[in-house]
Amino acid sequence: MDYKKLVEVYENISKTSKRLSKTYYVSELLKKTKDDEIEKVLLLLNGRIHPAWDKSDMGVAAKLVIKALALASGLSSDKVEKEWKKTGDLGIVAYNLMQNKKQATLFSEKLSVEKVFADLRKLSKISGHGAVDTKTKIISGLLSSASNVEAQYIVRTVLEDMRVGIGDGTVRDSIVWSSVEGLKINYDGDGNKFDYELSDDLLQLVPEDSKNKYANIVEIIQDAYNITNEFAEVVQILRKDGVNGLLKVDVSVGKPIKVMLYPKAKDMEDAFRIVGKPAAFEYKYDGFRIQAHKKNGKVMLFTRRLENVTNQFPDIVKAISENVKGDDFILDSEAVGFDKNGKYLPFQSISQRIKRKYDIERVAKEYPVELNVFDILAKEGKNLLKMGFLKRRKLIECMIKEEDKKIILARQLITDDIEKALDFYQEALKAGEEGVMGKNLEGIYKPGARVGYGVKLKPTMENLDLVIVGAEWGKGKRSGWLSSFHIACRDDDGNLLDIGKVGTGIKELVQEVIEDSSDAEGVPNKDSDESKVEDSSEEKVEVAKEDNNRVTFTQLTELLKPLVIEEDNNGVKVKPEIVIEISYEEIQKSSKYSSGYALRFPRVLRIREDRAVIDISTIDFIEDLYFEQK
Ligand code: ATP
Repeated sequence: MDYKKLVEVYENISKTSKRLSKTYYVSELLKKTKDDEIEKVLLLLNGRIHPAWDKSDMGVAAKLVIKALALASGLSSDKVEKEWKKTGDLGIVAYNLMQNKKQATLFSEKLSVEKVFADLRKLSKISGHGAVDTKTKIISGLLSSASNVEAQYIVRTVLEDMRVGIGDGTVRDSIVWSSVEGLKINYDGDGNKFDYELSDDLLQLVPEDSKNKYANIVEIIQDAYNITNEFAEVVQILRKDGVNGLLKVDVSVGKPIKVMLYPKAKDMEDAFRIVGKPAAFEYKYDGFRIQAHKKNGKVMLFTRRLENVTNQFPDIVKAISENVKGDDFILDSEAVGFDKNGKYLPFQSISQRIKRKYDIERVAKEYPVELNVFDILAKEGKNLLKMGFLKRRKLIECMIKEEDKKIILARQLITDDIEKALDFYQEALKAGEEGVMGKNLEGIYKPGARVGYGVKLKPTMENLDLVIVGAEWGKGKRSGWLSSFHIACRDDDGNLLDIGKVGTGIKELVQEVIEDSSDAEGVPNKDSDESKVEDSSEEKVEVAKEDNNRVTFTQLTELLKPLVIEEDNNGVKVKPEIVIEISYEEIQKSSKYSSGYALRFPRVLRIREDRAVIDISTIDFIEDLYFEQK
């Protein structure tokens, strides 16, 4: 497929805010996409070259794009940088520069989706000596073959700053419109309404009395996506075996599935109202979610964002191998850190282990974790998602040999008595836990959904997980650090919406960093090329965290520097990658920020290494909290 076709869709989508129009444009593109192009097109639509759970990134910062633009346009880097300062957007700079370069493009090859995708994938595999030069050449090669508007989107893709809002929901609906045989959509590409017709075959798959049969079909697609985690796979199955094929999609041990999420209950009565009586209550442990798979005797661990962290947690692998019966299963659990005296520690103190690359065994000893298992999703080839919760719990009770500070079952009480439930809640808080979870005894496990089969109950306000999109340089004693951070939530289409700035809750700490990191195993030499320096700063950050549980300015500055995509004298704009948890006193309406809200007294609590930008708080969620507080 010509890359131009994809770019036309980006352009059309960026001109509309109508979800139906976006769905229409993407679905028309999908209809024209061949089987072997589906994965590439779907990822590029989202500005990605790897699925969301894959950690690999292209490792391209603004400076490298400037070099590539200079090479492709024949201008000096200084000139390109000047242009950048004028517009503040390298995508636009690329558009303008490639416009002036008509002569060369006449002779260059036409760009295909395959070519762009393959070259961008190459970027994520290049490291070590000469990496910057090789990456510059690849990007400038693409830019030289690109039209001006193609160049704009290539630059935005490598900088991971697409500015085109296509959320998972839109992609899913586009798949429904384009790939479900027997579903006819009547839509003109522009309005706010659409109509549909279902074939007799499809009608058989939805409840007869359903008032929204279209929604039933969409749910089938969503369910399959929650299990496969790959839209491309969903499309392939639909094309080959239709909706019936999707209904047969099964959990596959070794491949992570989306975790079930839980809404918040207002109080204990509300909890019982949602989950029914009697209900199971469990401690809500304050750690990070681990989905543990065992297949053919081999254990694999995934975070909530489905990142594979098996190597980072040899202690958990050992605990599962030694204390859980069976060769084939998927467990859902929370890993919680504890100190030398056995006291449980808040998430931040162990979060560094998630990204750790060096010295893993030593850090595992220094920051041990206990695995609190609370669910099971598959066992010996059997999918357990539709089995009632109590039965699933009985299974884990039979499989796990509990061992304190290694692996235990989530502490549980089953009751229909509100007083007993409240006592249990107090007991959990006294034990230092965050609160309790209330669970419906018959509840199924619904991947990816925040449904009422379970609720969380905690005494604190709901914190927000927000992504840093920019920052300002500090002044006075904070000079040299980024010190005020611009934070954003997201909408359903994945657009990021500003919700203010935060600078409190962060520690001023400089000392600890450099010396220690230099003797850490495998740390590259700082004097070599740029991509190596990025690695070494990552290690610095890890060391900084070891001494202290609170986030420091040094740490945030080092984390954000490689992510800079725009800068001026005051500050920087960064790729939205660093997710932080924020507490606040109140949510207020505000016309100053694109979300329409601002936070009163926001405070940084911790960096959420286990969350990606897709996991951050949504504007709908913030709106609900706003009305709740009133
Ligand atoms: P929070 O920030 O409140 O932890 P969240 O967004 O991480 O919320 P929710 O689904 O809203 O996720 O809240 C439940 C979370 O609590 C789970 O994701 C899980 O990580 C954690 N947890 C701790 N103990 C339990 C338990 N016994 N059962 C289920 N989840 C638990």
